[in-house]
Amino acid sequence: MKDVPEQYRQGGQQAMQWADELARHSEAGGMLTRTYLTPVHQAAAEQLMDWMLQAGMTVRRDQAGNVIGRYEAAAGVDDQAPAMVTGSHFDTVRNAGKYDGNLGILLPLACVAEWNRQGRRFAFPVDIIGFSEEEGVRFKATLLGSRAIAGTFDQAVLGNVDSEGISMRGAMQAAGFDAGRIAEAAWPRRSVAAFVEVHIEQGPLLLNEDLPVGVVTAISGATRFMAEVRGLAGHAGTVPMHMRRDAAMAAAEIGLFIERRCSIKPGLVGTMGILEVVNGAANVVPGNAGFSIDIRAEQDADRISAVADTVAEIERIAARRSVDIQLRKTHEASSVPCAPRLQGGLAQAIEAAGWPVRHLPSGAGHDAMAIAAIADVAMLFVRCGNGGISHHPDETMTVDDAAVAAQVFSTFVENYRA
Ligand SMILES: [Zn+2]
Repeated sequence: MKDVPEQYRQGGQQAMQWADELARHSEAGGMLTRTYLTPVHQAAAEQLMDWMLQAGMTVRRDQAGNVIGRYEAAAGVDDQAPAMVTGSHFDTVRNAGKYDGNLGILLPLACVAEWNRQGRRFAFPVDIIGFSEEEGVRFKATLLGSRAIAGTFDQAVLGNVDSEGISMRGAMQAAGFDAGRIAEAAWPRRSVAAFVEVHIEQGPLLLNEDLPVGVVTAISGATRFMAEVRGLAGHAGTVPMHMRRDAAMAAAEIGLFIERRCSIKPGLVGTMGILEVVNGAANVVPGNAGFSIDIRAEQDADRISAVADTVAEIERIAARRSVDIQLRKTHEASSVPCAPRLQGGLAQAIEAAGWPVRHLPSGAGHDAMAIAAIADVAMLFVRCGNGGISHHPDETMTVDDAAVAAQVFSTFVENYRA
């Protein structure tokens, strides 16, 4: 641990304490679950607005339910000056950790509170957005808050219903928002100088290398498939090995191929997260199997070639094993690169704090992905404890790391030149 100046130590502590308090706003007892526009989600928004006001910000909500705090620029700065924008989401997955999303609101807020105490203002306003929805839990549509701000909100999802049959449109109305006016939430490109998101890493890399923070190079692109394999069911005792058309073993062979193919390049990952024998039994040769494929990479070319090789191998395996395999692509998103100039600014701030600079891709999606439609984006990752576990109550981080993150984020903003 390098020496962190007292003001950042206090900032880190403040952010961690707020994270504990915010985590009390939960839909379920004994765990943290907070989904879009439920009463506890609304209460969390109120809490954030209180803290923002106390930190010297003006606050508002938009028609998508985002919480937006503004720390005004220094006196005399043109009031149309593009803002330094930061923030992350305050909805959570079911049985979540306290820091995913929330940290990216609370850590910058602690920095703003300190600037406000010092009476320090900049040549640009600093905006903190509490994005109302990112995880997609309640309405099975993700990045709702950031897409509204980016002007890329898909109106079709307004008809999605939650598990109780309430439509998104209805939930918005009940919470005092007007789905018909969601386009008003969009920000023009000229209003944003840069968007920098602070986020817990949700992986083990920084932990493994004993580093408190890292600079994200890109949010990985992803391709996802669902697959169905049809072979021929048979008696496990009577069908000889050479005459089998085993659907499950075809799936298994594909899984092993994906594991091998995606191991050859850093930043490329492949996962078969669903693998099932349909109506399987111990004494039956599997006739039907289903599986999923998720391939992600920092570089789109790496992902595209891994996907092409996988599809070609699936055809070979299907032919050799005399099974039929139907592939259905369910998701495809390109990689979102972080702006080199902003990565450079974060790297300088990390060096100034006395730490080596680690660049790493983000394998998970984030609000910055959506905001990239209207601004240069960057991300600062903070080390995740417990082996890097996230989307889980065991997600942890330390006050020491929060202090380093406060120092790096503050330095980055203070040194920022358009
Ligand atoms: Zn998140």
